[in-house]
Parts: sequence; structure tokens; C-alpha cells
Amino acid sequence: METKLIVIEEKNIDEEAKRGLKEAGDIIKNGGLVAFPTETVYGLGGDALNPESSKKIYAAKGRPSDNPLIVHVANMDDLSKIVKEVPDSARKLADAFWPGPLTMILEKNDKVPYETTGGLDTVAIRMPNNQIALGLIRESGGYIAAPSANTSGRPSPTVAKFCVEDLSGKIEMIIDGGQVGIGLESTIVDLTSDVPMILRPGYITLDMLKEVLGEVTIDKTIIDSSSTQKPKAPGMKYRHYAPKGQLTIVQGSEKEVVEYINKETAAAKALGKRTGVIGTDESKEHYRADIVKSVGNRLDEKTIAHELFKVLREFDDENVDVMFSESFDDSGIGQAIMNRLLKAAGHNVKIL
Ligand code: AMP
Ligand code: MG
Repeated sequence: METKLIVIEEKNIDEEAKRGLKEAGDIIKNGGLVAFPTETVYGLGGDALNPESSKKIYAAKGRPSDNPLIVHVANMDDLSKIVKEVPDSARKLADAFWPGPLTMILEKNDKVPYETTGGLDTVAIRMPNNQIALGLIRESGGYIAAPSANTSGRPSPTVAKFCVEDLSGKIEMIIDGGQVGIGLESTIVDLTSDVPMILRPGYITLDMLKEVLGEVTIDKTIIDSSSTQKPKAPGMKYRHYAPKGQLTIVQGSEKEVVEYINKETAAAKALGKRTGVIGTDESKEHYRADIVKSVGNRLDEKTIAHELFKVLREFDDENVDVMFSESFDDSGIGQAIMNRLLKAAGHNVKIL
């Protein structure tokens, strides 16, 4: 299949852009797939109420079909049409954070096919904060199922180029809307349990949710890598975000980390391996690997979140075999950063 690429500037949705969104919406209405930008990462969209579309999404990504999709809506009225009820907690969270990087799990009704929810009686729903995404949802009939627009297991795409790499020839259209704002996937909160529970940390932090809802917990399997418990979010059991090379996270004082990584990269180089380091602005000058990339200033967690997936992808392009990353503070958005980094490393951590 030939994949059509169109470019739309979020800040300038003119007549031509509107025609593009209409064409993309028609593709989705007719059961096809379109990759599009959101404020978190690029999504691979299909009609969430059409089981055949969901099957195509799983096939294009190579994603296991028990890993459910997130349904994207453009207004609150549409939310109430696909769930059993909209609890107070959901209204409060929507008031506070929608449109935005927060996904809520609610009880689904019969309109949502099991193909979209991976066989579950619950459905994940989000209203993205991006004018291209919102326009496309409206043009598509109101409900777009969209996981991240990458091949299953690879880092999520933060620019259209990475969607092209993974999905060209497999889907009808890719909308290039430039670089995304946030760079990590949405926070997922389950509202079907007695106490709301974070199933995936993200840009909306535990403290932000607590401020709106009072009590909120976090799925233990997210913060404790040695936990043998089955995670509540089905997708969490799969290897994720992984670069092609082997990645190790190194924890310790800055001096120890630099020394250790330099020693290990020297040894790997001696074996003919290509080496890489994920460092910070503060430390990057000290490393002697083949390729050293900074994810930003150590204290600027928004920038680190924004750069992480991009840097992991760039290491793939540069055919790096062995990579080391510094570790980051595990609070606030840091919780999401470390969650993604640990998964990318397959929980391979060296503590000094
Ligand atoms: P992605 O589409 O790649 O951002 O991943 C979507 C995530 O949402 C996966 O980790 C899913 O397991 C999670 N998810 C989607 N629907 C549900 C649901 N009904 N219950 C729990 N987790 C869900
Ligand atoms: Mg994903």
C-alpha cells in the first residue's frame, strides 16, 4: 500500500489543512488507518467502534491483541455515549486536565467492540490537546482508537519521520504535524477500582491527581521492578520502548557513574562494539563513548521527558550496540521518565 504523507501546521489550520483533515477522516470512517500528532506522542488512528479497524491497528504495529487501545474523543458528550456511566471522579479529572495527557479507564458499553479493548469490559479514554488530533477525531466520526504510532516494542515516535520508518507501506496516511510537545505517553488512571489507581505514570503526576481526587494509588508493579505481581494495565507486561542495542542504567554519584561508564565503554570498544551514552548537559563532556547524547539539564524534567524517546531512536539510527544511561530522580514527571527508561533497558540497572 502507498502511504500518503501530508503536512499540517497545528498553529495554522487553513483551508488546505482542513481539506487534509477531511480526507484523513474519510480514510478512518472507511476503515483505514492514519498516523497523526498528539501533544504526547504520534498516534496510529483507526475507527474505535469498528472491530476491523482495531484488528488492522494491531497488525500494522505487530502488537499483541490483548494489549488494549486508547480511545480518543473530542468532547465530553461523546465520552458518555461509550461508557456505562461517567463517575464524578471522571468529570473532575476532565475539568482539570482535558484536553490533555491523561487517560481514564471506565466501564465500557456495547458500542465499544472487544477488539478495541483487548477483550476487557473497560475502556481507556483520552481527549488529546492538539488541534490536528481534535480536528481529525471530529472528521472521523468522534472516536479514534490510537496506540503510539511505532512498531510494537520500539520507542514511541515524537516526530513524523519515526512513523514513516515504522509504518510506511502499512497504513493509508501519515500527518506530519512537527515535533510533539510532551514526548512521553499519557498518564493512565483506572477509575473502576475503589481507589483510583495510576497504571502508567506520565506528565500528569500522582500529586496532581491527588489534588483533584484526594486518595490515589499507583500500581505497585510500576515502581517496584522486582515485583512478580501481574500489572493491571495489560500492556505493561510487554517489553517496550526498547532501542536495538543493549541499554544499562547506571545509578550512583556523578563521579562514580562517569568512571564506571567510561570503563565499560572502553572495554566494549576494545571488542569492536559501537558505544553510546545518554547523559545530561552537566555531564556530557566527561564521557568518552563513540556517541554521547544529552537529554537536557538534569533538573529540567520536562526537557528530559521530551528528549528521551528521540535520543533512543537516534541511537538506533547510528547502529549503537552498547548503551549506558544516567539515572534520574524518581519523583514528579521523573516517575514517568524512569518508568520508560527502565522498560527500555529491560530493567537492566547497575547500582554503584
Ligand atoms: P499505547 O497505546 O501504546 O499508548 O498503550 C496503551 C496503554 O493503555 C497500554 O499499556 C494498555 O495496557 C493501556 N490500556 C488501554 N486500555 C486499558 C484498559 N481498559 N485497562 C487497563 N489498561 C488499558
Ligand atoms: Mg505504545
